[in-house]
Amino acid sequence: MITLTPAYKDVPLVGSPLPEIPLPTNCPGCGVGLDREELADRAYVCDCGHHFEMRGEAWIAFLADLDSWAERWADIRPHDLLNWRLPKPYSLVIDQLRSEGLNEAVRTGTCRLGGRPVWAGVFDFRFVGGTLSIVAGERLARGLEAAASERVPYILVAASGGARMQEGVLALLQMAKVNAAVGRLHAAGVPYFSVLTDPTFGGTAASLALLGDVNVAEPGAKIGFTGPRVIKQATYADLPADFQTADFQLARGQVDMVVPRTELRPLLAHLVDLYST
Ligand SMILES: [Zn+2]
Repeated sequence: MITLTPAYKDVPLVGSPLPEIPLPTNCPGCGVGLDREELADRAYVCDCGHHFEMRGEAWIAFLADLDSWAERWADIRPHDLLNWRLPKPYSLVIDQLRSEGLNEAVRTGTCRLGGRPVWAGVFDFRFVGGTLSIVAGERLARGLEAAASERVPYILVAASGGARMQEGVLALLQMAKVNAAVGRLHAAGVPYFSVLTDPTFGGTAASLALLGDVNVAEPGAKIGFTGPRVIKQATYADLPADFQTADFQLARGQVDMVVPRTELRPLLAHLVDLYST
């Protein structure tokens, strides 16, 4: 376990003011009534340790120092190349989500984290379950390659159901593409850190999300390839109660650290410094 020196405690808990996120009236962990503003100041982590789901722009605000986020390739748009109709036409799904202000399942760009320049790729589970798509793969690969050539550390925040069914094999191919880009980053000796949030599954877990120099999971995050229901149907095995949790994957070496969100920014700043020397 890495011990943080006092200097890193100075890295602010959040990079920028966090946007409002959907919250229940009471915490599902402890039952206490929630104070929105207070919770936003604590990166949406309850006193009891319950981590509320942050998505997309909330993660970007969390990571990026104030006014430092510069988004790249937001204009690359998804298209229904396979004329996919089920469970409903893919083109309608895309139009609906984009009309709600969601751009794609991955946004990528540059920012500063505690003053350190980083590249970041952030999944958004609200866009077709954070699925790895042609657009997501292209943005990730371009960002990873830019990070390698600029020699700037890359931070991934994963939240994904896997590869996007509606793009078929074209989505599956993205696994190879992003893995190759991670390989180029590794070959260039540029640090790559992956933050796994709830949930990270399928082709995303099976590709770049678990290829970090350090893979850091949020407490309680579900992480795996195929979900427990399907595994149980296929194997008839009794699965342990903590199956595919962050701690389960930590014990098996799939993730390196399970870290509360309130300690994540100082930790990432520390890792950037450690791996950049
Ligand atoms: Zn609570």
